Amino acid sequence: MSVIVQKYGGTSVADANRIRIVAERVAAARRDGHDVVVVVSAMGDTTDELMAMAHELTPLPNPRELDLLLTAGERIAMSLLAVAINAAGFPAASYTGSQAGIITDTAHGQAKIIDIRPGRILEAISKGSIVIVAGFQGVSTAYDVTTLGRGGSDTTAVALAAALSADFCEIYTDVPGVFTADPRVVPEASKLHAVSYEEMLELASSGARVLQLRAVEYARTHGVRVHVRSSFTDEPGTWVTEEDVRMEQAMISGVASDDSEAKVTLEGVPDRPGVAAAVFAAVARDGVPVDMIVQNVARDGRTDISFLVPEPDLSRLAPSMDRLVREVGALGFGADRDVAKISLVGAGIRSHPEVLAGMFEALAAEDINLQMISTSSIRISCVIRAADADRAVRAVHRRFAISEEAGPRERHTDGVQPLKDVP
Ligand code: ADP
Ligand code: ASP
Ligand code: MG
Repeated sequence: MSVIVQKYGGTSVADANRIRIVAERVAAARRDGHDVVVVVSAMGDTTDELMAMAHELTPLPNPRELDLLLTAGERIAMSLLAVAINAAGFPAASYTGSQAGIITDTAHGQAKIIDIRPGRILEAISKGSIVIVAGFQGVSTAYDVTTLGRGGSDTTAVALAAALSADFCEIYTDVPGVFTADPRVVPEASKLHAVSYEEMLELASSGARVLQLRAVEYARTHGVRVHVRSSFTDEPGTWVTEEDVRMEQAMISGVASDDSEAKVTLEGVPDRPGVAAAVFAAVARDGVPVDMIVQNVARDGRTDISFLVPEPDLSRLAPSMDRLVREVGALGFGADRDVAKISLVGAGIRSHPEVLAGMFEALAAEDINLQMISTSSIRISCVIRAADADRAVRAVHRRFAISEEAGPRERHTDGVQPLKDVP
């Protein structure tokens, strides 16, 4: 029999009625002759609510306890779904990440999966059961419960699909697929039929949260075919897979923005060899990931160095930056949380340098100031004020008329509520 993995996001299991609808979809896959493994997220905003409760008690909750708390959200969803599927007349059993054999490292809050021991799942499948697994969690090599980072249920699903040699992994969410921009910000964005792992990696790392970055990395490494689609309709969504000939014609795959990072600036850093090494050694010691780095031209033997880090890591970084300023003799450091990164992603950027100019023109026409710029062969990113982000995404999307440029791609925004009106 063929195994398929289906993952349902928070909105898709938000209440009893939605859970019943998911149960019916799972049962339908079962009737079609598949062995089904289902991964669930926590219901609605449960993860945010649990997180807020912990932060009401203290600004820096104990990481082990916070992880244990957050995994409760997925456990509620998994057991309710198992109840619903059983009630619909199909045998189903739910398993926590730990019970499902998802082994992680010990990095609480952003643990990496290092092994999957799917013995219990395989046994349940062989007994004819539909298997439900709580997403976003595992058990560490130190036997503690861990979480995989926000959006981590996507990674649970892809990793299980790889471990079970599933035919494919379906990611059911609240939009009909991967779009050329967040369809809530750009209502005229088009749904992509297919997107390569590489382009999806760039989109995910640029803030298109429809798939967690780690999930895309895992899918690429293990060759898992991922189908992102709506849990509200039956229409096909977006396939994330190896690049094919048709996709090569796609000049630009999309625009994304990300306001989850903060800009750190070290001011008046002495311009001499070894200073950048000292700065980023200090950042690395704190285990803080750095995104974009810009160093200005030196004046009077001093220069400014700016870089982006995840906003929640700022408080951890501040003491070492203070120390560093004294050690290297810089003038000071500042942090700006009020920034966003807007990125244009597409394989065509490599061979069409005019795309760069086009992006900058579109932003200039909106009078949006660029604080930092970085480019790769398939991505251009600019740091701007956070308040300008949605306007910037719409302007760049419009400038490249992405739906036409990109070739045969569907328009589809039915059922998607724009968050803001397009001017
Ligand atoms: P889930 O709870 O199902 O995991 P998420 O909220 O994590 O759902 O991800 C889906 C959301 O991602 C959509 O509601 C949409 O607003 C947002 N999104 C951002 N960029 C894109 C994009 N390029 N294509 C589709 N959705 C996107
Ligand atoms: N519930 C977790 C979160 O909100 C994991 C997920 O939804 O994938 O981040
Ligand atoms: Mg998600």
